[in-house]
Amino acid sequence: MNKNVGTVCVHGKKQRRNVDNTGAVSFPIYQSATFVHPAFGESTGFDYSRLQNPTREELERVVNDLEEGVDALAFSTGMAAVTALLDILEPGDHIVATDDLYGGTIRLMESICKKNGIKTTFVETDKVENVEKAIEKNTKMIYIETPTNPMMKIADIEEISKIAKKNSCILVVDNTFLTPYFQKPLKLGADVVLHSATKYLAGHNDTLAGFLVTNSQEISEKLRFITKTIGACLSPFDSWLVLRGIKTLHIRMEQHQKNAKKIVEWLKTQKAVVSVYYPGLEENESIEVSKKQGTGFGGMVSFHVDTPERAKKILKDIKLIQFAESLGGVESLITYPMFQTHADVPLEERLARGINECLLRMSVGIEDVNDLIEDLDQAINK
Ligand SMILES: *Cc1c(COP(=O)(O)O)cnc(C)c1O
Repeated sequence: MNKNVGTVCVHGKKQRRNVDNTGAVSFPIYQSATFVHPAFGESTGFDYSRLQNPTREELERVVNDLEEGVDALAFSTGMAAVTALLDILEPGDHIVATDDLYGGTIRLMESICKKNGIKTTFVETDKVENVEKAIEKNTKMIYIETPTNPMMKIADIEEISKIAKKNSCILVVDNTFLTPYFQKPLKLGADVVLHSATKYLAGHNDTLAGFLVTNSQEISEKLRFITKTIGACLSPFDSWLVLRGIKTLHIRMEQHQKNAKKIVEWLKTQKAVVSVYYPGLEENESIEVSKKQGTGFGGMVSFHVDTPERAKKILKDIKLIQFAESLGGVESLITYPMFQTHADVPLEERLARGINECLLRMSVGIEDVNDLIEDLDQAINK
């Protein structure tokens, strides 16, 4: 069977299982907490939905095929996935992480991990030497995001994976922004890929979900044990929603990117816009790394406007585009990183990274791009 990515989005690598012999084309929602045992010592393969559920397993199969791992695990949220992953570590272990990580991940590392005796050093992972310098004797994990949020900095996954291997660390890549449609970190040397499937994988701003995908049997076994123990698994209905979302992932990602590129070009011509951040800009220092490790640049755009008043006016005056947190859905959203996603980051650090009252982040949706530009134009300029 054809294994090109668009086909994998719709079917997975193999034909969908026909579990109940009805021939249903859309995989059924097995909304059952528990399953009957045929006899003592016998199982249908399904005992209890925290451990196994056919709908969730179907989704895990497709995501595993997309990221090309050996196992994918679906969680109730992206943060549940991060929490389960960090449970691999022991007290006294050390993490080296991107300083620009998703705010919730930083909060988890700085509070619960710290309390459990796990220390994190945050560095700018767009410079590989920073990662090498931060490694300590007890470093067990390197945890990166690329591109970063909201400044769209790029880390070289292949180069960082060499440092991870040399120091016997697990390399984790949060692939939420580019998705396996544009970037496959396991192929570049990562050990675990993480997703907030709430974003592009589900794609419709209608459910929360998370994933861990690994190409290591050993890590898979540890994660399966943690997951059944802590119980943060994805429900059958939410599994079905994400499964349905992924069927159009390839189409949506192309349109998000096409629209984002047009909006970036337009923003660059606006007097009130001081700078634009997008991984696909030819003038980016990191453009060669981006091209080497992925097949696209995604649909996330950040920009600085000239004054804080202008930023606030845009948030008030946008009509089609909506002022809301989150990203990756078909609807275009704008957020204010300074006061929303990054509000927990110390003020000095925010300002040093360019996260100030003039910075806005747009998740470009799949609406008609001319309508999006018209909306931005009236909100920025009129
Ligand atoms: C949203 C997000 C998360 C957290 O996921 P939830 O589904 O909101 O729990 C983690 N990483 C990145 C990059 C995100 O954007």
